Formats: sequence, C-alpha cells, structure tokens
Amino acid sequence: MKRILMLLVSVCCAMGVTLQAQVPAVVAHRGFWRTEGSAQNSLAGLLKGDSIGCEAVELDVWLTSDDVLVVNHDATFKGVIMQEATADVCTAVRLDNGERLPTLQQFLEAARPLHTRLVIELKAHRSAWRETQAVERLVALVQASGLGDRVEYISFSLHATQELIRLAPSSTPVYYLNGDLPPHLLKAMGCAGPDYHFSAFHQHPDWIAECHRLGLKVNAWTVDDAKEMEWLISQGVDFITTNEPLTLQHLLSKRFANSH
Ligand code: MG
Repeated sequence: MKRILMLLVSVCCAMGVTLQAQVPAVVAHRGFWRTEGSAQNSLAGLLKGDSIGCEAVELDVWLTSDDVLVVNHDATFKGVIMQEATADVCTAVRLDNGERLPTLQQFLEAARPLHTRLVIELKAHRSAWRETQAVERLVALVQASGLGDRVEYISFSLHATQELIRLAPSSTPVYYLNGDLPPHLLKAMGCAGPDYHFSAFHQHPDWIAECHRLGLKVNAWTVDDAKEMEWLISQGVDFITTNEPLTLQHLLSKRFANSH
C-alpha cells in the first residue's frame, strides 16, 4: 500500500500536479516570544525564531515624530505614543525581557546573518501622508540593508498597502491584512495575496482556491489552536502566522512525515 502511495506521489510530481495539502511556512508572530528571555518584537524573539527554524518572523513598525522607524506593536506602549514621541524616547522603553525597544535599523542588522525571512507590518498611522512617509523610509531602509529579497510587507491600512505596492520593488510581496477584500480585488491592486484572520477563510471557504487560481498566496493569522492549524493546512494555505511556532512545527512534522 505504501509503495502504491509513493508511486502515486511520484507520478503526480512528474506530471506537475500540485497536491492539495502543501507544507505551509511557519511565521512567528512578533517573533518567538513565548519562551524564556524573550519578548514581543524583541531582538531576542527574532534570534529565537530563527534558531528554531521559522521560515519568517513577523514584526510591527511605527514612524516616530522625528522620522525613525521603531519596532513595536502597540500605538501606546508603556505610556509612550510611538507616532508622537522621538526615537530617543521610544527606544528608552524597556521590553518585558529587559531589552530596549529596537529601531528597525537594529532589527535588520540583527537579521542579516540569520536565515529567517521578515514579514514587516507597517501599522496604520494617523494620516495618509504620514503613512506615505513611513513607506518611503521603510522601503529605503530595507533596500539599503541588503535584505530586500528576504522581506515581505503587510498592513491593515489600504492606503499603506497601496503605497507599499507602488514604492517597493515589484519582486517584494505585499499582503493586505484587513480581511475585507476578495481575491480578485487584491489581484487587481497588485497585492501578493490576503494575510487575513483565519475566520475570514471560514466565512469565505472558496477564497483560498480562488487565490491560488489567480496566482496569489494565502496567509492566515494568528493561529494558536492545533485544530485550527490542521484545518488551514488541509485547505492548502501558504503561510500560517502563530504565537506557537513549536506547536505548528510539531504538527507539520507529524502530518507530512506520515504522508511519505
Ligand atoms: Mg503585526
């Protein structure tokens, strides 16, 4: 039976047939932070995500009042409003593991010798023009770092997403997060695909196959429950963003070891 299955897989591969359940990439949401010595959006979380073999680490960025990109999720973190404070004030804040809040420049330098890709989320800023300024600085900084081919961009802001598509190199994937646009509109915008909350794919179960027909890739966030991970894998998504990368890796190694 096993030999027949292996033969079938070989024939399918030779014919260029894509098996439905592919291995999705593991994206560590805000780094691998649910572990000793780590914190969300920290350099430690980046290094730890890379050390366990995550295909990508996700991080969030804000543009400070003096035009520096800093890495943090919250609009207001430990009393500091990221968009209204200077970089000196933002980076004086200590993360929960004792690290100072990093600039994007520091994050990119720490990522350079690693293997993991970076999924950089530009947060929705207080105005469209400020988002455009943030996109200009973000794309310039990433290109200057030499990491352009290891970076993907995401945003909840439609304006920021459109600006990222306009200003980033055409080879750099840009995904939209907000869950409200169907695949054909994402394709028309030049988006690489949806990066939606997993519930969007329960509401629209046809979207995953439609994305693949259109040549788009599909990412789902933030998936910490093993049953939900199983469902998304069975649906053939390309990336899963999770706070529990070890759980997802364990599940993938069991599932795909059994299929060969
Ligand atoms: Mg994020």
